[in-house]
Amino acid sequence: MSQCDVIIGGGGMVGLTLAIALAKGGLSVAVADPVHQSAALDTAFDGRVSALAFATVRMFEALGIWPHLAKDAQPIHDILVTDARLNGEPSPFSLHFDSAEVGAASLGHIVENRHTRAGLFAVAATLPNLRLIAPAALIDLAPGPQSIRASLSNGETIEAALAIAADGRESEMRDRMGLGVIAWSYPQWGIVATVAHEKPHNGVAYEHFLPSGPFAILPMTGNRSSLVWTEDEKLAPKMMQLDAEAFNAEIARRFGNHLGATEAAGPRWSYPLKFHLARGYVKPRFALAGDAAHGIHPIAGQGLNLGLKDAAALADVLLDAARLGLDIGALDTLKKYERWRRFDSLAMAVATDGLNRLFSNDIAPLRALRDVGMGLVDAIGPARRFFMRHAGGDVGKLPRLMRGEAA
Ligand SMILES: Cc1cc2nc3c(=O)[nH]c(=O)nc-3n(C[C@H](O)[C@H](O)[C@H](O)COP(=O)(O)OP(=O)(O)OC[C@H]3O[C@@H](n4cnc5c(N)ncnc54)[C@H](O)[C@@H]3O)c2cc1C
Repeated sequence: MSQCDVIIGGGGMVGLTLAIALAKGGLSVAVADPVHQSAALDTAFDGRVSALAFATVRMFEALGIWPHLAKDAQPIHDILVTDARLNGEPSPFSLHFDSAEVGAASLGHIVENRHTRAGLFAVAATLPNLRLIAPAALIDLAPGPQSIRASLSNGETIEAALAIAADGRESEMRDRMGLGVIAWSYPQWGIVATVAHEKPHNGVAYEHFLPSGPFAILPMTGNRSSLVWTEDEKLAPKMMQLDAEAFNAEIARRFGNHLGATEAAGPRWSYPLKFHLARGYVKPRFALAGDAAHGIHPIAGQGLNLGLKDAAALADVLLDAARLGLDIGALDTLKKYERWRRFDSLAMAVATDGLNRLFSNDIAPLRALRDVGMGLVDAIGPARRFFMRHAGGDVGKLPRLMRGEAA
């Protein structure tokens, strides 16, 4: 049986970032994941991009991850939000967020998840006190008074002061440790595809609110954008089955022609959209982070940013405890993390759920209400800046890493 300070189940973007932060802070860390590194970097594994908020970018800079991503990151200079109809003109009320207004070079960056993973693997490989065990799933946890014992699918047993589940939305460890969830499904799927277009996007991200849900066009490097297309659950499977020509025609109906001719480049992916929030984030010697703790609607592109804020907050709480010689797996240490993060995640989950309900319909009074609301926010500078600070993750109590400081 081997020993370490922290065992993390899940080497996704949240689990690996957390492992790097804790290892850089001096703890010994093991990360187990059933997916081998080379498979996790394959273009066919995850077609998503993520909008990294500027607080997230500061964290990646502080951890030395950002230099590995910078060349593949597309800065977002402007965000244009419109209330639109299929084939129709957008409503005259729209929202425009401009990075210059908050004195920032960008409102965040779009990075393909595979590039973020590659950067995380590269930094993890430089840390002698971080051990990545893959392929190996965490299959059981047995907490005791002084430590927790983790069993892995490769037959290994690891004893640690603390186990963290960062094993995604269907977290088996969350269920095994008896942390229930509040959950529901949206009658929508997220369809994700990369689109090549004729004209440059100039770093502008668009969000068209269509009756079936938001249709986001996120600028990628080159003349490419990533679509995050929210579609009715009955229609989405049909869209996924269309041949290339018909799929391109459906994209064009929603995309508009502001970037010239468009064409889907590469495969398409679909994700049934769900909401969940764990009823508790911690137990003695156990904590949840990232999608294992919460899953929100992608309408505001904040799910990963929220998970990375969990990682940064956990690093603050655990490293402070370790430096004071306290037990990092004790419930009162872990409760500090839960108090800090659970309310913040709940607030974001409620806000994104409400936005989706308000915008994903074609009901005339609601359409009028949201159009007036958008017009008002657009006309009032402080309101616009408030939304930009939220999107950038610069609100509430920021962990050290998200302020750009060392863990
Ligand atoms: C359509 C769509 C678009 C999105 N767009 C954005 C965006 O623009 N910005 C944003 O911030 N967020 C976005 N999100 C959300 C974001 O993708 C997730 O929040 C993020 O991937 C969660 O990361 P994670 O590391 O917590 O979980 P995951 O990425 O799910 O990683 C979990 C890891 O755990 C491993 N694992 C599973 N079981 C076990 C086990 N038993 N033992 C060990 N390991 C295990 C898995 O192999 C995996 O590597 C989007 C989501 C969707 C669906």
